[in-house]
Amino acid sequence: MTVKIGFIGLGNMGAPMARNLKQSGYDVTGFDIQAPCPTELVAASSVEDAATSKDIVVTMLPNGAALQAVTHDILPVMSSGSLLLDCSTVEIDHARQAARDAYAKSIEFVDAPVSGGVVGAEAGTLTFMAGGRPSAFARARPLFDILGGKAVHCGETPGSGQAAKICNNMILGATMIVTCEAFALADQLGLDRQKMFDVVSTSSGYSWSLNAYCPAEGVGPESPADHNYKPGFAADLMLKDLRLAQMAAASTGLSTKMGQLATEIYADFVENKSGSGLDFSGILKMLKANG
Ligand code: NAD
Repeated sequence: MTVKIGFIGLGNMGAPMARNLKQSGYDVTGFDIQAPCPTELVAASSVEDAATSKDIVVTMLPNGAALQAVTHDILPVMSSGSLLLDCSTVEIDHARQAARDAYAKSIEFVDAPVSGGVVGAEAGTLTFMAGGRPSAFARARPLFDILGGKAVHCGETPGSGQAAKICNNMILGATMIVTCEAFALADQLGLDRQKMFDVVSTSSGYSWSLNAYCPAEGVGPESPADHNYKPGFAADLMLKDLRLAQMAAASTGLSTKMGQLATEIYADFVENKSGSGLDFSGILKMLKANG
């Protein structure tokens, strides 16, 4: 029998993911409070309708508050024994609360935030980092195989996927800032950007930010820098993830000073320096414009 999926949150990421599931033969019903439902899917009339009588409900929502609102509405109507698969990036505590609420209704829960952006969502090459019971992860695996190139089961505790995601993005945010600073410094020192790339990309300063996603226009592989910093991965989303990392660090009593500074720099970029809507590598543009 065809597995029935309810897909809630059909934005930049959710719509292509839902379409890919439909194309792979799943019976997919979609719902969003704002975005239109792709024509290939069955459009639900309400969030409850999207979750009723489904084997799996996938959520791809902007934040933890939206997840809380949606779980409040759908858990009472979801079938006992079904699976709630949340692919949004949310606070660890929100993932844990959703899991507790789901378990109380005998519903399985997996948190599985993604890396790979809209391009990865469209191409079915996302990376999933998942938290939840092994049995629930096994149930989600066929969906991960369609939507992604890789899925790592990060731990049995709900929120483990979110933990892995924010650790990764704290590294990414800080690394991108210092990569941009290095290009700005190279300019000041009269060092050709291409020469700097040629050296650093094969030296100990190499990183994904420099080698694969170079923030300098015309240098390295094609990246948002070559398209006037059109995202890609928006600075607003990087700021969101850095703030989640800071909240998580504070909740454990750990001081992460580089992560904190990266959060402040992205907040300034997004809120004061016209960075909202630009790619997160646009920090280089800000450094050149503002010194
Ligand atoms: P988006 O804002 O484009 O989509 C979210 C959708 O959720 C919107 O269409 C919104 O209307 C809908 N929504 C909000 N509240 C709802 C509710 N109560 N019921 C039904 N629908 C509701 O965001 P996105 O870019 O698709 O990102 C989704 C998630 O994926 C976020 O948590 C984001 O951090 C994460 N993420 C995004 C990217 C990216 O590059 N866009 C990359 C990795 C992870």
